[in-house]
Amino acid sequence: MPRCIEAMTAQGLQAARATTAGPDPIGTARPHAPAPAAPGLVGPNAITRMDEALAALRGPILRDRVFAAAGLSHLVRTPPTAMVDEGDVAGLHRALRAVLGPAEGQRISAEAGQLTGDYLLAHRIPRPARALLRALPRPLAARLLVRAIARHAWTFAGSGSFSFRFAPSLELTIAGSPVCRLVDDGEMACAYSAATFERVFGAILGPRVQVTETACAAAGDPDCRFLVTW
Ligand SMILES: [Zn+2]
Repeated sequence: MPRCIEAMTAQGLQAARATTAGPDPIGTARPHAPAPAAPGLVGPNAITRMDEALAALRGPILRDRVFAAAGLSHLVRTPPTAMVDEGDVAGLHRALRAVLGPAEGQRISAEAGQLTGDYLLAHRIPRPARALLRALPRPLAARLLVRAIARHAWTFAGSGSFSFRFAPSLELTIAGSPVCRLVDDGEMACAYSAATFERVFGAILGPRVQVTETACAAAGDPDCRFLVTW
């Protein structure tokens, strides 16, 4: 996710406008993107917002049970403030569903994703950038935002990869996502990512934005896909 929309420069706008009329190539993190701190690390929101969502929706005892099942009780006692091992995120999502089942796991994950989106909007997308994006035609704003997200994809995809395409609706793809990497119940398991995207895109493109999880590696698909409509 974007640390900030520093790409809201004249150059960025020009590049986006140049591609607005035609089909956009599948985007990936650009060569000039900030380098990951280390391979396989993701932002701490993937842990801390799950902690908050579990405590809010099911209470601290159940929260502690899920974290204990993942072997991560220490992260409840001392919430991480720096990048975390993507293996911990994968293990937490597996434990969540093992304890609560797939449907409740998705509900909790969606709440955690919303909270992550709230955090990103408050701390990583400055208010002036949001105002600028909101003033643009939505197709152009969507292109600028998704490019910024792609540049920072390592913060949520870890060792996986993020790409996007407009065909014609915006489709986001995460291959090797830590979120569902260890889930083995055969159902879609990336409500966390879908809700994060929906919160961030919704703040820019309007409340009618919907992000639908259309494929998931945990359900046997080659990768995880999300359709963004507005
Ligand atoms: Zn998935």
